[in-house]
Amino acid sequence: MRIAVPAEIKNHEYRVALTPAGVRELIEHGHDVIVQCGAGIGSGYEDAAYEAVGARLEGDVETLWAGAELIVKVKEPQPEEIARLTPEHTLFTYLHLAADERLTRSLMETGATSIAYETITDERGGLPLLAPMSSVAGRMAVQAGAHALEKAQGGSGVLLPGVPGVPPAAVTVIGGGVVGENAARMALGLGADVTVLDRSLTRLEALDHRYQGRLRTVYSTVDAVEAAIRSSDLVIGAVLILGAAAPKLITRQMLATMKPGSVLVDVAIDQGGCFETSRPTTHAEPIYTVDGIVHYCVANMPGAVAPTSTQALTSATLPYVLKLADQGWREALKNDGHFQHGLNTARGQLTHPAVAEAFGLPF
Ligand code: NAD
Repeated sequence: MRIAVPAEIKNHEYRVALTPAGVRELIEHGHDVIVQCGAGIGSGYEDAAYEAVGARLEGDVETLWAGAELIVKVKEPQPEEIARLTPEHTLFTYLHLAADERLTRSLMETGATSIAYETITDERGGLPLLAPMSSVAGRMAVQAGAHALEKAQGGSGVLLPGVPGVPPAAVTVIGGGVVGENAARMALGLGADVTVLDRSLTRLEALDHRYQGRLRTVYSTVDAVEAAIRSSDLVIGAVLILGAAAPKLITRQMLATMKPGSVLVDVAIDQGGCFETSRPTTHAEPIYTVDGIVHYCVANMPGAVAPTSTQALTSATLPYVLKLADQGWREALKNDGHFQHGLNTARGQLTHPAVAEAFGLPF
């Protein structure tokens, strides 16, 4: 199969969808891999490293897309990339369609088959291709939040760990899945006072067991969210309902109850955000302030730490890329019900129920 790896063009996105090691595996399976010149540089892979394992390098982006059957990317296609998609293409990447109706409709119109990393499931009920980036984003959320708390950023000026004689900051994490646990772990490591809210008692039990009283777990209700944010310095939004738009758990009205200069980090922004006042930001301008509360809402957080993120992402995606290349998408998905959950569009139709429900579109 002819597989293309374009350079990512989203703002400050430095990840790449295949490393030279991954390309080598595909070539050993008899496939033809075409890599856009410079695609790996932001992650530390020179063109020569791809060439050395047998990839073809392509400088002309139109030729790259036109000649490919399978396109492997990191972020959702940008408008100029959508324009290059045809019904002959299979696109394998993060899509987060429920957050973006325009993208969803334009992707359907291309007729391309699109398979989203983030809706593929596994036998343990996890999201194996979202988890590695959620680990990265969860850890980064605390770094980003700590920075945003600084006075110069508009924050209250509270230092997360405190110092001897001055108590640490209060950090609330809403959603105790992969992002939430990684954020909690970082915040605990810095010495903050950490509370995790979740709707899943199983998750809360697991966290309680693992952290042995070092963090507080609270069942998530509107009441519990209201109570927690009132005394928090940093709130991290980390909820997910598979494939669906994130529920809005903090309303604009609720901001007035928070301490001025407190920080909201909305990691769930890629699914539309879990705070009413969230809007997607970029690494170039990551924060803004609403009613005295600093918001950080970068939708591609792991892109900023590309060498780490690319290695973590591609280790998880490679087995799936190999299946798609070896078997073609129909066979690969037919043989694996969890992989099948990744199918978001095919032949101009939406094929994921939660995405269809988000926009009231037929499924
Ligand atoms: P996950 O499925 O592991 O965890 C989500 C948790 O949210 C679950 O434990 C679930 O029970 C909980 N939840 C659902 N509704 C809730 C509610 N009302 N109150 C409290 N908890 C609730 O998901 P994850 O991998 O941790 O991902 C979380 C979000 O972060 C997703 O939207 C994901 O796409 C996003 N993400 C963003 C970036 C970024 O760069 N911004 C990177 C990676 C992941």
